[in-house]
Amino acid sequence: MSGRTRLTAIFGDPVEHSLSPAMHNRAYATLGMDRAYVAFRVAPADLPAAVRAIPPLGILGVNLTVPHKEAAVALMDTLSAEAQLLGAINCVVNRDGRLHGDNTDARGLEQDLREAGLDLAGKRALIIGAGGAAASAILAVIRLGAEAIALCNRTLGRAQELARRFEHYVGDARRATRLEVAGLQALTIPATWASCALVINATSLGLGGDPFPPLAYEATPSDCCFYDLIYARAPTPFLAPALAMGRVARDGAGMLANQGALAFELFNGIAPPRGLMRATLMAALGRST
Ligand code: NDP
Repeated sequence: MSGRTRLTAIFGDPVEHSLSPAMHNRAYATLGMDRAYVAFRVAPADLPAAVRAIPPLGILGVNLTVPHKEAAVALMDTLSAEAQLLGAINCVVNRDGRLHGDNTDARGLEQDLREAGLDLAGKRALIIGAGGAAASAILAVIRLGAEAIALCNRTLGRAQELARRFEHYVGDARRATRLEVAGLQALTIPATWASCALVINATSLGLGGDPFPPLAYEATPSDCCFYDLIYARAPTPFLAPALAMGRVARDGAGMLANQGALAFELFNGIAPPRGLMRATLMAALGRST
């Protein structure tokens, strides 16, 4: 680092576990850029002050992670259309002192599902969860052309509210995806799973290694893809039973790598070294790809 080094960063609480600094700093080093990416632990009460500090410190851009993605929306000068729809941001871009909020999670997931060769045209998907990650999953699945989405969440009201946010978007003639809402009890009913081409876990269930409640995995078609937004070194509690049944299973590492590469471009204004960022992340997770 030098006196001219410009910073990018991530704000979260906790943040120590984040793999984003490794991905971004490897990219800067490889491209020979005098830039660095650092992690700041920012408590919720300190978020407004931390965000206000971005322009005077000349920080180029900041990623946001739990628990700041929704609270930061009100602190932005401008928002991308996608951030407005999702009601959450994971990127703050410093545009000459004005703060622009964007969200690269949905695009990151969409890219990863496309890279997995998933074609949802005319098919049905099941999304478990109704937080910010589930909102991104809904948008990605709509863009992949799904005919219907079943949205299941512990708190039914939250799922209904999320579905309402997509009413206009879903109702758009170009994206005629039907959105159905249910509580978690629907996950034990085989009919919920039958004919699903994709099942996404967008809850934080399983993060601490806690078991996932019993699900009707066996009721899915044999080519159904299981996707957990959580990523880990070992198969997550949601993916392990699907793998044992020989189903296609993928965790959120690819989504994380993609959203990071998209953020790199927003912060630095140049094309990201995507393969390098992905390889760095996978190596940190102890994987080869
Ligand atoms: P939120 O806190 O906004 O939402 C959490 C969701 O999990 C809610 O639907 C909540 O249900 C549900 N949930 C939590 N605990 C339980 C439980 N004990 N039983 C049933 N449901 C439960 O989190 P986010 O949406 O921001 O994130 C969700 C997950 O996605 C996180 O694990 C995060 O790590 C991951 N993620 C991964 C990304 C990636 O790049 N791979 C990007 C973004 C997120 P309720 O509404 O009833 O409380």
